[in-house]
Parts: sequence; C-alpha cells; structure tokens
Amino acid sequence: MPDDAILEVRGLKVSFPIRGGLLNRKIGEFKAVDDVSFRIPRGKTFGLVGESGSGKTTIGKSVLRLIQPSAGSIEFNGIQLTDLNARQLRKIRSQMQMIYQAPAASLNRRMTIGQIVGEALWLHKGLRGEARQKRAAELLREVGLQNEHFYRYPHEFSGGQQQRVGIARALAVQPELLILDEPTSALDVSVQAQILNLLQRLQDEYALSYMFISHDLGLVRYMCDEIGLLYLGKLVEVAGSDTIFERPKHPYTQALISAIPEPDPDLQREEIILKGEISELSDLPGCPFASRCHAEKMSKCETHLPPLLLTDENHHVACHLHPGTVSHAS
Ligand code: SF4
Repeated sequence: MPDDAILEVRGLKVSFPIRGGLLNRKIGEFKAVDDVSFRIPRGKTFGLVGESGSGKTTIGKSVLRLIQPSAGSIEFNGIQLTDLNARQLRKIRSQMQMIYQAPAASLNRRMTIGQIVGEALWLHKGLRGEARQKRAAELLREVGLQNEHFYRYPHEFSGGQQQRVGIARALAVQPELLILDEPTSALDVSVQAQILNLLQRLQDEYALSYMFISHDLGLVRYMCDEIGLLYLGKLVEVAGSDTIFERPKHPYTQALISAIPEPDPDLQREEIILKGEISELSDLPGCPFASRCHAEKMSKCETHLPPLLLTDENHHVACHLHPGTVSHAS
C-alpha cells in the first residue's frame, strides 16, 4: 500500500440475507455493497455519493467494523482491520470516528455536553478530574461553543450546535480519520455552511482525513478532493472533484450534476430526468443502471456488467460507452 494512504478498501462486499416463507428461511441475498475499492490519501477528503439505498452508509459502518463485511480487505494505517479481534478493534476504533446525520440521536440527553465530551476523554484517554474538565472545555471552544454551554443538556441546543458537540466528542479521542455520514443533511442551509467550514478548519488544524458520505453531489464539490459515485452498491465513477464536475462520464453522474441548481442563469444546463427509482435488484446480469439510463445504450448493457476501468488519468468509469484499462489504483 502506498504510504500516503490512511485507508485502503479493496473488493469490499457486504450482503444481507433475504428471508421468507413460513420457516423464515434464507431465500436469497441482498448485495448492499458489491466489490467496492477506493483509497483515502492522508489529510484528504474522499466523498461517497449516492441515492438512499446505494450502500454508502453501509460502507462507512463496514470500515469501522460496525457491520461485518462479507468479503474484501480494509487497511487502516497499514493494519488489516478484517483480521483484528474485538479487543484490538476497540483500540483502533479511537483513531476512526463517525459523525452522524442526526446529532440529537447520537448524544445522551441525560448528560450535559461537558459530561458527554468528558466521558470520551475518560474512556479513550484516561483523563480525570480537572484535566478532563479543562480539555473538554477547550474542545467545546474549538468547535465554536462557549464556556457557559458546558453545563447544558443536548435538548437546549439547536441542530447545528448539537452537531458541534458531536464533532467535539469525536475530536476528544484524537482520531486520524472521520467518517462524516451526511453530517449536515438535517440542518438549515445557512447552518450547513458553518458546519462545513468548521470541518475544513479542523481538518487543517488536526491533519484529519475524511470520508464524506452524502446524497448531495453539489454539497461534496467543495469538501472533497476525490469523489466516488455509488449506484446499487457499486462504484460507477471515481475521479477528482473538478474532473467529476467538468468532465462527468457516467450517465448517472451526468444526470445528478444536471439536477444541481446553477445560480448563474446564463449557465443553466438542461436537466436530465432520471427515470424510475433506484431498484433493489442488484444481481441483474447487465449494467445496474440500465433501466434508468438516458444514454445511447448497447446490447451488452443488458447482459454484461461494466467493470470500473481507468479511462483517463485518475478517472475510473463503469460504463460500456467508456472502455478503459484495469487499474490497481481504484
Ligand atoms: Fe448506460 Fe450502458 Fe453505460 Fe450502463 S453501461 S450506464 S446502461 S450506457
């Protein structure tokens, strides 16, 4: 593994059994994540974008081993996470933290925010007494909260402030990688911008690496160095953020970009309307996007799964219209 990668995921698969019948027997398998590979260079942000049901949160939870992968490898700082036992995993998890979409649900409402951040400092860093109080107050100030907030409860805060508490709690354990799972989707637009700015500042200050999970391609544009588009558990396009927006190749990416509102009326693009809904049939023989694709399809679109191939420098696409070569980078 190149030494500048903090996380390298290879061939990740996650399947869940489909049960049915009177005896609730396994009658099939739902492939939530199917052969996904990507890497996050240290200090960079990788965006995973897709509609609800595309498998992006499942990937985030698999990296933390909150969900057991069915196959594949996950290397964090050169350590193979799939080989670790529960005790070793607990230790390494403090270096990777998840920030959740609904901050209120992730905070204990019976604890003050000082106690919430203090608990993380005690559990992971062994801090007690005054040292713990002092560091918790520092962290809360670091995320934009005031000293007087220390003794208040989560319900006394707005959604944006609650997310700041979640970020302070994550920072308490001195992580190297944050998995940001739709961290602003429950917030007002003006508050979203504040939280994104805070995350960018903290990334510089603490040399953090981010996996940024979102359904909103427009939102990830300014946060991510590289973006992977997920469709039905498969990566269909991976490239640098500018490349994705300036030269999108996969019809799915093109449709998502066309739907992003353009503030300049002179630059309005024609919106590509996606047909139908994302389906759950992930084991069709051809391209998983075929039933919704607006491009000029080929006969093999219905019969052959397009692999993710390198089509240009650092630009991977899974579409028969864009032949490429097999690459080991993604
Ligand atoms: Fe569309 Fe075929 Fe490309 Fe799939 S492989 S995205 S169906 S053109």
